[in-house]
Amino acid sequence: MKRGAPLRRTPFKAKAAVQAKRERAPLVLVPRAEASRAVMALVLPKPAAKPVLKTPDRKSQAIRDSARDEECTVRITGVCNHDPKTTVWSHAPLGAAGKAGALKALDLCGCYSCAACHDVVDGRAPRPAGYTHEQVLLDWFFGHLRSLVRLKQKGLV
Ligand SMILES: [Zn+2]
Repeated sequence: MKRGAPLRRTPFKAKAAVQAKRERAPLVLVPRAEASRAVMALVLPKPAAKPVLKTPDRKSQAIRDSARDEECTVRITGVCNHDPKTTVWSHAPLGAAGKAGALKALDLCGCYSCAACHDVVDGRAPRPAGYTHEQVLLDWFFGHLRSLVRLKQKGLV
C-alpha cells in the first residue's frame, strides 16, 4: 500500500487568551545581577584560590640572642624584677603575630622581657591585683615598641 501525499503536521492552535497574552508581553531579559545564585555560578568565573603565603624568616637567632643582659621593656607594675640576667625574648601570645598552636609568633613580634613579666604575659603566673588581661597585653605592646627601637639601634631590623 502506498500513500500518495505525505502526512502533514499542523500546529496546535493556542487558545485565544494565551495567544493574546503572548502578543502583549514583550520578551524580558533578566539582568545578570538579578539572576538566581545558581545562574550566577554558571555565569561568573570562580576566583582563583589564594596561595598560602609562607614567612621565610620566622626565626632570627640574632634577635633571640640580643636579649642577653637587656633590661626588661614590659615593666608590669609590681611584677617586674628589673633583672637583666633573667631577660629573654618574649614572643607575642597572639595569633595576629603568627602564633598558631605550638608554633611561636614570628621573632620580630616579640620584646625583651624579664622572667617575672614573661610569666605573667604567658599565663604561668597570676596577674597583679586589679590588672586585666588587656592591661597586661598593653604593657607587653609598650615593651614591644621599646624593643623594636632597641633592635633598630642594634641594627637587627
Ligand atoms: Zn619585667
